[in-house]
Amino acid sequence: MRIDKTIFTVFAMLLGLWGIPVMAQTDDICIQKHIAIQQQNISKNKDLPSMLSIDDSATYSRRLEQEYGIAPASELYGDVWVNRWVNPYKRAGVKLPDTFAVNVSNYCIPVIGRLTSDYGFRRYRMHRGVDLKLTVGDTVRAAFAGRVRLINYERRGYGYYVVMRHTNGLETIYGHLSRFLVKEGDIVKVGDPIALGGNTGRSSGAHLHFEVRFLGLDLNPNEIFDFKTNTIHSDEFVFRSAPYRAGTETYYSNGVSYSVYRVRRGDTLTSIAKKYRTSINNLCRLNKISPKRTLKIGQRIRID
Ligand SMILES: [Zn+2]
Repeated sequence: MRIDKTIFTVFAMLLGLWGIPVMAQTDDICIQKHIAIQQQNISKNKDLPSMLSIDDSATYSRRLEQEYGIAPASELYGDVWVNRWVNPYKRAGVKLPDTFAVNVSNYCIPVIGRLTSDYGFRRYRMHRGVDLKLTVGDTVRAAFAGRVRLINYERRGYGYYVVMRHTNGLETIYGHLSRFLVKEGDIVKVGDPIALGGNTGRSSGAHLHFEVRFLGLDLNPNEIFDFKTNTIHSDEFVFRSAPYRAGTETYYSNGVSYSVYRVRRGDTLTSIAKKYRTSINNLCRLNKISPKRTLKIGQRIRID
């Protein structure tokens, strides 16, 4: 389906060049809008080669991104490009693909420093990234090539932070910064300095909080990067969707996806086990709790 859309986009671009009106043959509004923007941009572009082959489309997309500000990885994100929320995708109805191979071969470790806090649950709070030790004023670099989507300040959270969208489909977040070196909308090459590290927001001691996200969903950065050797595990990271479980949130950790349920009034381990067709023993093992434990409202319980 995605390939069909790419081919259609390229044909639409070509027809647009010859001034032939293009009828949209897809009901996907995001894609239609995107094609329209591309056509407008192409018609403005004087020195475009008279004929584009499908092989040129990746290069040409990059050029559109750079010259006209089309958002990176729009084949995944549609035209959702907002600078208000870290994750606008769920409410915009952007869907996760079942699988997607992300090319991570052209990477840069944002800051070379010891990993001081890992991705995952800390008591009842999820830590959606990794913490890397730095000294205030150290340079923080772009993990991949892309464009700055959001720059913001959050007193009780990220402090000064940057969110970037990358051409490979990932987004990265850099938190607790002391100074920005880029602005929203800036095109950034891999390894470009984007900010100086700091200790702003909810932070005790200078460090970089670094998150890797895919369509808004936080991934475990350790699945891509090896922070001990400052390399990557593989040139390609394959994203796979977790099976859908109603009423739960999906998380990814240590190569596996899992569902987490938030305890509501009246819930017991028995009722949760019954609802998700699992056993109390299983829930206790996964959550390292005793079967006699009383659940607190809002507590997160791992289901699988
Ligand atoms: Zn952190």
